[in-house]
Amino acid sequence: MPAFDFLKYCRVCTDRCCTGDILVTGEERARIVERTGKDQFEPDGHGLFTIRARGQCPYLASDGLCSVHDIRPEVCRMYPYWPDVDDGQVKIPWDQTCPAAAHLPLEMRKDLEERARALVAKLGIESYARWYNTD
Ligand code: SF4
Ligand code: SF4
Repeated sequence: MPAFDFLKYCRVCTDRCCTGDILVTGEERARIVERTGKDQFEPDGHGLFTIRARGQCPYLASDGLCSVHDIRPEVCRMYPYWPDVDDGQVKIPWDQTCPAAAHLPLEMRKDLEERARALVAKLGIESYARWYNTD
């Protein structure tokens, strides 16, 4: 499968996605803090963390790219897909405002959806739902 050039879209994107509440696991947080020395994570009290990216994520560099790209959280790797949990059911919607989303090859869509399902399975649906449904 030829590599999909995500950055082709990101470089000219006006709908930047590195904002909002970003889920971070304990392992991901430890790796990012060790690398950057910056602890920008809010604990949920149950082992998960949140980057409260009001405006933009503190790990977004001035060139518009992720400064921790190789160790970025799993939710960043699966974007524009994410797990939605409602009434105990997991759905994997995708963000239609992302200019790259509509161009993703089928195999990549499947892979990103699978990542999203795998994350919920790894964390446990209750744990994920608690994080997801907390303001
Ligand atoms: S919204 Fe899509 S195209 Fe824009 S920066 Fe995010 S991933 Fe790239
Ligand atoms: S960690 Fe990187 S990819 Fe994830 S929201 Fe922050 S800047 Fe974006």
